[in-house]
Amino acid sequence: MRRNCTLFIMICLACLMVVLPALGARSSGDEDVNKKHHVVKKKHKSGSVKNATGKKGARVKAARKPSGRKPMVAEKHKPASVSPKGVPAAAGTGIVSDMRYWSNPDYTRIAVSVDREVQFEYHQLPAIKEASVPPRLYIDLKGARMAPGVKDIHIGDGLLKTARIAQYRADTVRVVLDMESIKDYKIFAFSDPFRIIIDVKGDRREELTKPPETVLAPLVSAPVAKPEPVAKPEPVLQKKHPKQAIGKVRRIVVDPGHGGHDPGAIGAGGTREKDVVLQIGLKLARLLRDELGVDVVMTRSTDEFIELQERTAIANKVGADLFVSIHANAALNRNVSGIETYYLNLAKTAKAAQLAAKENGTTLEKVSLLQAVLFDLMANYKLNDSAHLADDVQKAVYRKVGSQYAGVKNLGVKQGPFYVLVGATMPSILVETAFLSNEKEEGRLTDEQYQNATAAGIMEGIKLYVSRLK
Ligand SMILES: [Zn+2]
Repeated sequence: MRRNCTLFIMICLACLMVVLPALGARSSGDEDVNKKHHVVKKKHKSGSVKNATGKKGARVKAARKPSGRKPMVAEKHKPASVSPKGVPAAAGTGIVSDMRYWSNPDYTRIAVSVDREVQFEYHQLPAIKEASVPPRLYIDLKGARMAPGVKDIHIGDGLLKTARIAQYRADTVRVVLDMESIKDYKIFAFSDPFRIIIDVKGDRREELTKPPETVLAPLVSAPVAKPEPVAKPEPVLQKKHPKQAIGKVRRIVVDPGHGGHDPGAIGAGGTREKDVVLQIGLKLARLLRDELGVDVVMTRSTDEFIELQERTAIANKVGADLFVSIHANAALNRNVSGIETYYLNLAKTAKAAQLAAKENGTTLEKVSLLQAVLFDLMANYKLNDSAHLADDVQKAVYRKVGSQYAGVKNLGVKQGPFYVLVGATMPSILVETAFLSNEKEEGRLTDEQYQNATAAGIMEGIKLYVSRLK
């Protein structure tokens, strides 16, 4: 038994000796070239990212190897050779369990999941023309090991060729993105569970731009509740009330919060946020189609769990013009009630920060860390448009619901750092329909008429917003 074990360890060490120098050689070559050409664009910065403890990860230093050496490009990463099976993970090591992507011709999101928080840093490397190596972006996850089964992904969407992942060093997992044509990228982390998100953007390339029908084909790895079919244009005569897609808005993503193992807020009477927001979302989707004639894609139309980063990715992937996330509120004070609508920005009050923590499924500390980097992440965010959309929706929901129910409170438009809105490239809002922690409002949220009124209010707000775009 002991002999077998020793033999196994020796084999593993041998594998390490073969694989690590190969990866290292590749990297050294890359960095030589980086140093030699100095062509990293300003926009494509290298950087390191603070972890939850606020400790800044050290930047990777360029290897001082003699230049002029031909970079090695032939090595294939062999993650299996250094899987955690071979070398036991040290205490405190994060296990990289998953790498996924969502792709659109001008936007791709990659998410790397780790079972605990790890430090990471990223760098960009220019192309090596003579070796036909494309420009690359790599992210090193420190104190991390790959779980078996995590594999390279072929993307080939015009922005990225491939996403490669390997055990670069015994304690470092490296993700390398082979880039094709990208203009900008953002790298950031979400917490609980920890995941590193890489958003890359580029020019929409005509030849890769697919018609809406194809865009709505089943998503790569998104368990999106049945992709809502695109409404086929029908002969006008067959319609009682012919509705044409209004103005510039053709497709809206409706995102009922939570789902599956995440119930969201739970009222004293046992009402679960995930159930009532789904019912409101389905009603809203129907109204948007019938009344506004727009395509509607739902991030979920059943009781299933969808990660927050995936919801935004879906909206970007389907080229949505608007993104509306629907939630129900909760407060410690059971007397608190009312409607409020959020858009992405720094929280202006402690309550807004607390709500963001709750909706993000994380702590206030993590929310403040997100706030520290939020402005950088919001470069492509439609801040003003989102604020206007939030304003129109908030007023319309209040008007609609308030005209049918007594004592409804208008809590107004607010701002907060919500994960589900980070990276959205279209005007996007989060509607907190009512308080499940309030007995009266919990009862109303389960009432179909109240749900209808709320959905109608959101639809009317969107209609007003769109009518002003012309
Ligand atoms: Zn919620």
